[in-house]
Amino acid sequence: MVIGTAGDVSTGAVDDLNAIASICKKYDLWFHIDGAYGTPAAVIPKLSYLFDGIKEADSIALDPHKWLYSPIEAGCTLVKNLQHLIDTYSSHPEYYNFSNTEDEIALNFYEYGFQNSRGFRALKVWLTLQQIGRSGYEKLISEDIELSEMLYNLAKKHPELEAIFQNLSITTFRYIPLDTTKSKDFINELNKNLLNML
Ligand SMILES: *Cc1c(COP(=O)(O)O)cnc(C)c1O
Repeated sequence: MVIGTAGDVSTGAVDDLNAIASICKKYDLWFHIDGAYGTPAAVIPKLSYLFDGIKEADSIALDPHKWLYSPIEAGCTLVKNLQHLIDTYSSHPEYYNFSNTEDEIALNFYEYGFQNSRGFRALKVWLTLQQIGRSGYEKLISEDIELSEMLYNLAKKHPELEAIFQNLSITTFRYIPLDTTKSKDFINELNKNLLNML
């Protein structure tokens, strides 16, 4: 298995997913994407190129409670070939056997993961998707990214701040004292402490 990141939480960086996909194809490896935070940004037309390789993934982890704005907690794994889940998780002990011979074939979620008894967590995710919709997500996610860009530009202009990165909705910056006699080690330590205090 190879895991690519689509939206690193520290820097917002997205791996070259197409490059990872081609390595996985060549060596017959499972391609998983950790897109817990970043995947929904693929809905933004000008950013979709970053996520181009996502369709090659065998599985994608995605947290609706992050950038799909669902209430905490709602985790999700998308798997391309459902049969893999059934082959892995489905079991039919004597005492637990649902027949699929009736007119309507039942969708038994216990066959798709290791959880058996389950609450209806999917309802809040579904409702949020219905209420916000694709265009709503484009707007909300774009606004988050704009705020992050604004913070980056403000940090860049500020005489005591050093702007480092801006990707997706994440901006990284640090404090640089005007007193130029301070050592690099001192400034690094100071920023670690500032982060902890924050
Ligand atoms: C949040 C996050 C996780 C962890 O997800 P949980 O739902 O908190 O377990 C893993 N990877 C990335 C990239 C994340 O953003």
